[in-house]
Amino acid sequence: MDLKNLKRGSVILLLVFLLSACQQQLAKSQYPLHYSGAIMGTTFTIKVSSLTDSLTSDALKTQIKALLDQLNGQMSTYQQDSELSKINQNHSSEWITVSESLYIVLKQANVISKLSNGAFDITVGPLVNLWGFGPNDMSFAAPTDEKIAQQLSNVGFKYLLFNDDKHQIKKQNPMLYLDLSAIAKGYAVDQVGLLLEKNGMSNYMVEIGGELRLKGHNLQNKLWRIAVEKPAANQRMIQKVLPISNVSLATSGDYRNFFELDGVRFSHTIDPRSGKPITHKLASITILSDTTMKADALATALMVLGVDQGYQLAEKEDIAALFIIKTKDGFIEKASTSFVARLR
Ligand code: ADP
Ligand code: MG
Repeated sequence: MDLKNLKRGSVILLLVFLLSACQQQLAKSQYPLHYSGAIMGTTFTIKVSSLTDSLTSDALKTQIKALLDQLNGQMSTYQQDSELSKINQNHSSEWITVSESLYIVLKQANVISKLSNGAFDITVGPLVNLWGFGPNDMSFAAPTDEKIAQQLSNVGFKYLLFNDDKHQIKKQNPMLYLDLSAIAKGYAVDQVGLLLEKNGMSNYMVEIGGELRLKGHNLQNKLWRIAVEKPAANQRMIQKVLPISNVSLATSGDYRNFFELDGVRFSHTIDPRSGKPITHKLASITILSDTTMKADALATALMVLGVDQGYQLAEKEDIAALFIIKTKDGFIEKASTSFVARLR
C-alpha cells in the first residue's frame, strides 16, 4: 500500500460515482458528512446521507481518520515500522502474536487462497517487488527468469501457519514476505462502515481506492448509483451503472496500475503460479459481496484466474462477478448467475 499508485502518476480509482453534474454539486454541498482524503497510497471518499445526534461531523471525521491511520499502521508494507513490515523483517519461524485486525485479514486471505487454488496469495510480495510494484523498486523492467524462479521459492500461502486460539502466525519459510494490498483496503472500508453503524448511521457510502461499501440510501432517498468504469487506460468513460445498496463492491483491473515496456503491458496483478504479471484478455472484474474485504480479495483472485477459470469458480461458489473482456471490437461483458440475480 501507500504511494504505490501515486508513484505511477495515476490514481487507481476504478469507479466513478455517477450523478449528473448539477446533482453532484447539490449532493456535495448537502451531504451532512462528505469526507475525502488520502490513505493507503490511494484516495478515500465517505458520504453519509443522514447523521445521528451522537457525534458532530468533525468528531466523526477525527474518528474515521484515526481508524484508517491505525489500520495502515498494522497492514502497510510501505510503512517500515508497521506491524506487517516488522513481521516481514522477522526472518524466523517462531510463532508471532498479531493484532486482532491483522489476524482477521490474514485468515480471510488464506480462505480466498484456498478457494482460488493459490491464484490469490499474499505471499506473492517478493514478486510484486521484483516486478517494480512494491514499496522500494522504481525500475520498471522485466526481471530475468532466474530471478523470478529465485523469488518463487519463497512464495506459497501454505508456508503461513495459524493458531486461532492464540492469534498467532508462523512463517514456516522464514523468508516469507506478506503483501496485503489486495485485501486491506477492503477490510478498512468494512471497518469504517462498522464505525458509522456503531454511531447509528445506516445510510452511507464508504470507498477506498475503488473498493466500496453501500448501505441504505443516498441523499435523494434512492439506491446508490455506482458506475463501473470502462477499462481503458487513456480515457475515463462509464461502462455500466449499478443501482445498488446494502452490499460491498470491489473492482480489479489492468488498466490503471501497470507499466509498458516495448509495447507490452505489465499488470500489477501477479500470477503466483508463474511469478509473472497476468497477460490475458480480462480487462476488469467487479465483485459484489457481503463484505468489502471478501469482494476485494475475490476481485484479484478472479483477475488472476482469467475469464474461463474465473467464471467457473464464480458459478461454483455463487460469487457475484461481472467480467469485462477486451476484444478487437471493444469490450464485452459477462456476468455470473449470482451477479445477474443480485441486480434484479
Ligand atoms: P486492484 O484494484 O487491481 O485489485 P489492488 O490494489 O486492490 O488493485 O490489488 C493489487 C495489489 O495486490 C498489487 O499491487 C499487489 O501488491 C497485490 N497482488 C498482486 N498479485 C496478487 C495476487 N495474485 N494475490 C494477492 N495479492 C496480489
Ligand atoms: Mg482490489
